[in-house]
Amino acid sequence: MTIHYKKELIHFKHPFKIAHGTRTSTSIVFLQLHHNGLIGYGEASLPPYLPETQNSVISFFEKAKALLESISDLNEIDLLIEQIQIMQENNTAAKAAIDIALHDLYGKVKKQSCWKMFGCKKENTPFTTYTLGIDTNEMIEQKVNEGKAFKYFKVKLNGEYDKEIITTIRNKTDKPIIVDVNQGWKDKYEALKKIEWLNTQNVLFVEQPLAKEKLDDAFWLFENSPLPIIADEAMQQFTDLEKIKHCFHGINIKLMKCGGLSAAKKIITAAREYNLKIMMGCMTETSCAISAAAQLSPLVDYADLDSPNLITNDFFEGIKFTEGKIMLNDAFGIGVVKKL
Ligand code: MG
Repeated sequence: MTIHYKKELIHFKHPFKIAHGTRTSTSIVFLQLHHNGLIGYGEASLPPYLPETQNSVISFFEKAKALLESISDLNEIDLLIEQIQIMQENNTAAKAAIDIALHDLYGKVKKQSCWKMFGCKKENTPFTTYTLGIDTNEMIEQKVNEGKAFKYFKVKLNGEYDKEIITTIRNKTDKPIIVDVNQGWKDKYEALKKIEWLNTQNVLFVEQPLAKEKLDDAFWLFENSPLPIIADEAMQQFTDLEKIKHCFHGINIKLMKCGGLSAAKKIITAAREYNLKIMMGCMTETSCAISAAAQLSPLVDYADLDSPNLITNDFFEGIKFTEGKIMLNDAFGIGVVKKL
């Protein structure tokens, strides 16, 4: 097997303001694993607020190179992925890229789609949400129009203009909303008050209302909230599940947080035992990593995999959405074709 990688930038359709300027793009690294004339594709997405960078991903790939190049039999894929996982702590986006590329390659060797290999039924895919970021009222209204084919909206709130944002959306549509606070509310009392109001606004659940470390407050909210609370920042890797399982009604799994498809599958199995609701989410990713995540989506309750709709330069063609429903294809592996 040989390993090739490339740094790239993906650009947002709607650049957004942050404290020090405007964010227009996200750094990613694409990975290709070549084996017997077949290519497995993988992707690491690197949001600027997380520690991994393009250089850290590449140095992880270089560390994994000898192991990957020594592979002749892909039937050992589970063992191989386990070895990659324990090579070094964290580096979950780099691990996810390798895990995705290995699954893609393995599917191509076996002439099967990954969703089939995972024992999933194609018709059981969930609908994805369409994301509305924090923005001006005009831009929110424009995005509500752009996302009109989707069944649910995912709305970002941060404590500052929460009521105004929801009211702007509610003046345009009564579609169900998922709210993502990204740890933005200061305390549990503020959170409960806001959730009680959101409960009158056709909101399905609230993601990560409080700082990820505040598990006692999360538990209090879990017991008092009229709406389900979903862990995102508090639920990164498999080992976090034990800590948070009694403090939330559900979890948001992302390949870039947990280290790939094998890790995500393990989390899904355990989370089901704890009766947790499961959402499959994403960072800013192309159709490569999104199509990989979609392979497991028949096993989850909700999906937030709309990233290909939010970028201008998708390097891959992969899964499609019909009115927001994830449409898996029958192509081998993760079901993608490289286009750029
Ligand atoms: Mg989130």
